[in-house]
Formats: sequence, structure tokens, C-alpha cells
Amino acid sequence: MDCIFCKIISGDIPSTKVYEDDKVLAFNDIDPKAPFHVIVIPKKHIVSAADITSENSHYISAVYEAIAKIAKENNLENGFRVVNNCGEDGGQTVGHIHFHLLARRNLAWPPG
Ligand code: 5GP
Ligand code: ZN
Repeated sequence: MDCIFCKIISGDIPSTKVYEDDKVLAFNDIDPKAPFHVIVIPKKHIVSAADITSENSHYISAVYEAIAKIAKENNLENGFRVVNNCGEDGGQTVGHIHFHLLARRNLAWPPG
């Protein structure tokens, strides 16, 4: 399958791993938008948030459990933001669902 995040999971594309378990992989974003910018993905090719179902949602809860662990391990006690871009208007550029974990700067709200 021609998916860059599936290739990162398989190791065909290198990444700087931050966290891994049986359902989730997290790695540093190649073009960081904050001093801490990690991409958290399920190890299953779900295209976007519009494709979450009762059959695959256990991967999404695993993603959020991983995010809580990553935040603790990296001392993000001052806070962080989780962003999921969905579809063209949502600004999604990679068609494998992913969650941006951004921290270590004051993040603007509302986003642009
Ligand atoms: P999106 O725009 O789809 O919400 O986010 C995709 C993110 O993936 C972007 O922040 C982009 O920098 C990151 N990205 C795209 N290709 C690669 C890659 O090959 N390696 C890594 N580490 N990040 C990537
Ligand atoms: Zn994929």
C-alpha cells in the first residue's frame, strides 16, 4: 500500500520513534510546528476520523492512552494540544489517521 505512515510502521521509511506498543507508534514530525511535535498513529490503516467505527475504535482509544503516557514521560505537565486534521478542508495531507501532539510553547486558540 502506498502510505507513508504504513511505511514508517514497517520501517521502510525511517523515523525517530518516541513511543511504541502493539497498537500505536509515535515519532517526531519531520517539519515540527512546535518545540515538541510528535505524530501518534494507530498501527492500522484507518484513513481519517471519518472512518472510525465500532470495529476499529479500540485503536483510537489506544492512541489516547499512548498520548497520556508520552505526555508523562516527556514532562508535558504545562499542557499540550492534540490535533487531528480530517479531510481536505481539515488540512489532512497524509491519508492515514494521525494525531499531532504539540507542546512547549503557548499554542494559539482558536487555530487558524
Ligand atoms: P497533516 O497535515 O496530514 O495533518 O499532517 C501530516 C504531518 O506528517 C505533517 O506535520 C508532516 O510534517 C508530517 N510528515 C509527512 N511526511 C512525514 C515523514 O516522512 N516523516 C515524518 N516524521 N513526518 C512526516
Ligand atoms: Zn497507512
